Amino acid sequence: MPQPSPRCASYYSATIHQETDYPRLEGDHRVDVAIIGGGFTGINTALELSERGYRVAVIEANRVGWGASGRNGGQVTGSLSGQDAMLKQLRRTLGAQADDFVWNLRWRGHSILRQRVEKYAIDCDLKFGHLQAAYKPSHIDELKRDHEASQQHEIGRHVHWLDAADTAKVIGTELYHGAIRNDFNMHLHPLNLCLGEARAAVSLGAQIFENSTVIDIVHGDTPVVVGDHGRVTADAVVLAGNAYHRLERRRLGGKLFPASLGIVTTAPLSAEQQASVNPEDLAVYDTRFVLDYYRLTADGRLLFGGGANYSGNASEDIGAELRPRLEHTFPQLKDVALDFQWQGMAGIVINRIPQLGKLSPKVFYAQGYSGHGIATSHIVGEIMAKAVSGQLEEFDLFADMRHWRVPFSDRLGNGLLAAGMWYYQLREKLR
Ligand SMILES: Cc1cc2nc3c(=O)[nH]c(=O)nc-3n(C[C@H](O)[C@H](O)[C@H](O)COP(=O)(O)OP(=O)(O)OC[C@H]3O[C@@H](n4cnc5c(N)ncnc54)[C@H](O)[C@@H]3O)c2cc1C
Repeated sequence: MPQPSPRCASYYSATIHQETDYPRLEGDHRVDVAIIGGGFTGINTALELSERGYRVAVIEANRVGWGASGRNGGQVTGSLSGQDAMLKQLRRTLGAQADDFVWNLRWRGHSILRQRVEKYAIDCDLKFGHLQAAYKPSHIDELKRDHEASQQHEIGRHVHWLDAADTAKVIGTELYHGAIRNDFNMHLHPLNLCLGEARAAVSLGAQIFENSTVIDIVHGDTPVVVGDHGRVTADAVVLAGNAYHRLERRRLGGKLFPASLGIVTTAPLSAEQQASVNPEDLAVYDTRFVLDYYRLTADGRLLFGGGANYSGNASEDIGAELRPRLEHTFPQLKDVALDFQWQGMAGIVINRIPQLGKLSPKVFYAQGYSGHGIATSHIVGEIMAKAVSGQLEEFDLFADMRHWRVPFSDRLGNGLLAAGMWYYQLREKLR
């Protein structure tokens, strides 16, 4: 019998509270909703539907949280991917209501996630406090605009502007020219969160199948998910494989591009080192298009991510790539030991707006949060669950958004995206 695919050797997989042991999909099954992919999108859709009384099956090729959901930076922020492009498009359909809709969407994932952690007592090292730090003086204006916008809303009481000197007091580097501090934003252990949410769904009756690759979807009135050793017939199917799947190329090819993102963690830092780099235990990212992001883990390591490889291939040596960026930010950590390094695939969308849609009347898909998916996937789980139960208003808003599709990209690879990203990075250097 084939063994489950191993998890990547990350800090997260080394600190799992309770490893999964869900069965393989074998034989024929009948449920209300079949969900392909056991990351945040699939698991949260399953949990939402289970809470509403639906019979659900999640079919995961590897293990729950094996993809981006169990490998990411763990930062839960109100930075909704593609928010400006989304706003532009929504103003055409929603008019003046578009601004409020997008603003509320930015923070909705936080509430869903917090409620879930509380309700199901999920231990995932959840902490509050985040800094978005200006990497160049020319980035300050945009940050200040976002800060001013927050002051017009209830959330404003959690959001503070820090000048360069105040920024250097809360984060031990001279790099930044100012920052927004947001104490509503969070950071956490994403793999333990995803595994806890999966357990919650199972406690409500959901079935999860691991080590079960879906090889086809048979469309129809009662679509069938065809796995390598079994089948699930359902009233509806949700495809949530994001950057890791190759299903439905005719409809989905050229819409989503996998980018490899890398992360390292240091060895546990001493109390003095922790106080010197991050005395208030905040999560941080900077204002660049391809940004650096970091935070301390529960056991006092610096978890540091940055850069992106848009070629569609994994990088050869993440440690060698990230060490100079880490030491540039924190010279006091020069030559620090790196205990873990890993990478994961994020699904990049050209206009960065999450892609929700239908492949046929009963087969839905959701993907593409362009590296900002923890909060978004929780919102999307709710929207997908509503859509499957016939409440289509929010789903339709997303499904109607216009997206670029790059022809032949499956054959040509990510070359065009890599060139596009190079162009954006060049433009940013001139900012
Ligand atoms: C290194 C890195 C750092 C990131 N940092 C952050 C961050 O700090 N904050 C933030 O908000 N976002 C971050 N993100 C983005 C975030 O992790 C993703 O947007 C989110 O996890 C996507 O969830 P998902 O469920 O859609 O996809 P995934 O978690 O990738 O799940 C897809 C699942 O589908 C399964 N699958 C694929 N094909 C099949 C098939 N044929 N049959 C069955 N199963 C299949 C895969 O095995 C996988 O488990 C980061 C991403 C990466 C890679």
